[in-house]
Amino acid sequence: MKQYIGDISERAVGSTVELAGWVHVRRNMGKLVFVDLRDSTGIMQIVCVPQELDEASRTAAEELRPEYVVHISGSVQKRSAKQVNVAMSTGTIEVLAKTIQIVSKAKTPPFEIENEDRQANEELRLQYRYLDLRHERLSKTMRMRHRVMQFVRNYLSEKGFVEIQTPILSKSTPEGARDYLVPSRLHKGKFFALPQSPQQYKQLLMVAGFERYFQIAPCFRDEDARADRSPGEFYQIDMEMSFVTQDDILALTEKIFIDLAHELFPEKTITKEPFPRLNYADVMKQYGTDKPDLRNDTTNPNELAFAWIVNFPLFVKQTNEDHFHGAGKTWAPSHHMFTAPRPEDVALLDSNPGQVRGLQHDLVLNGFEIGGGSVRIHDPAVQQKVFDLIGFTEQQKKQFQHMLTAFEYGVPPHGGIAPGLDRLIMILAGEKNLREVTAFPLTNDGRDPMMDSPSEVEKGQLEELGIALKKK
Ligand code: ASP
Repeated sequence: MKQYIGDISERAVGSTVELAGWVHVRRNMGKLVFVDLRDSTGIMQIVCVPQELDEASRTAAEELRPEYVVHISGSVQKRSAKQVNVAMSTGTIEVLAKTIQIVSKAKTPPFEIENEDRQANEELRLQYRYLDLRHERLSKTMRMRHRVMQFVRNYLSEKGFVEIQTPILSKSTPEGARDYLVPSRLHKGKFFALPQSPQQYKQLLMVAGFERYFQIAPCFRDEDARADRSPGEFYQIDMEMSFVTQDDILALTEKIFIDLAHELFPEKTITKEPFPRLNYADVMKQYGTDKPDLRNDTTNPNELAFAWIVNFPLFVKQTNEDHFHGAGKTWAPSHHMFTAPRPEDVALLDSNPGQVRGLQHDLVLNGFEIGGGSVRIHDPAVQQKVFDLIGFTEQQKKQFQHMLTAFEYGVPPHGGIAPGLDRLIMILAGEKNLREVTAFPLTNDGRDPMMDSPSEVEKGQLEELGIALKKK
């Protein structure tokens, strides 16, 4: 079994190791060949001295080229003083090769892997994403993303939250975006929708009695891309709790982010703790946006300025962009239609809906909205009223009958939040683009150049689904 480069330190000097990985760099120094061998844990300098190698290994050492996959065994030794490289974690040691075996050859990559300036055009980088991901920067970001997810998972699990996976083949969830539809073969003419978020399921899990739920949930919204919004899919740290006030939700979420920053990013500072809580109307007046960048120094990527925005209006004027119901009606939910009005504003639902404030909360960080949530409606009569105000027809209301029915069987008051994982990682990594923190992202215009998706499908597949394509 191969050993990982990251596990080999000066203590191993004198012992024999078996390594495997990719040729990072090969340097010919007259008779000697130096190879920087890279695996998932680091880089090790390998010295190939012809007289230490058998015939096959000698030939292999000659043939090695960057990105070849090799197996190397040898003995660990201290580097000579002038070979020491303090910038490398294995910079004081090297491996004197005894055997070298080429496992697979590699063509010259279409772009230089160690290209710090990302000169290769992005289309090419995405087409050969597996090579792009070999770059230390992307590989580090993926590992950081893993650590953040692991931290959140452990944190919430310790607090009694249960991670529950909700369906991907789902029904249209009205979060205000366009749905991705999946045709049903067994029920021709009917469609699943990929969830825009697990919103309804997590509320139903509260009715089911779980009280504390979370999921690192994939969400699908068919929207046009922006730098801070991916076309297609993204991940949320989705949470829901029963018997909580808005304060409880804010306090718990805030604590997660503070602890996460302190533990995983000690080089970063949080501008203000506890996070400021700002009224929507005030921030709009003061900053002209509901996601102000509150850093003391807006050029400092190591400063994290979190803030809560609260007291949003429950409704906004409906526009043609709203995809969740019939057009032409006055009101659209500002967050989503399950958000509860502030108790003191409930009476205004009848007289002046535009004045009703919701129990919605947005978390902003350095000028980005990184999550939103709310206390939910749990009174079927209020839910009906909100459906009416956003202009639902009886038919549309029927689509949510399961929520209203569930609420008739003992619903606890509940609420939650869903911080977006991708955007958070983007900010923490100091990246400007979500694609830099996603392993296999789509292009801006919603394609995957590597898989060549979306793609046409066989005629037979369409027939099975009862689908006929219109002529272009
Ligand atoms: N489902 C909501 C969203 O995706 C978050 C929430 O209300 O918990 O924005």
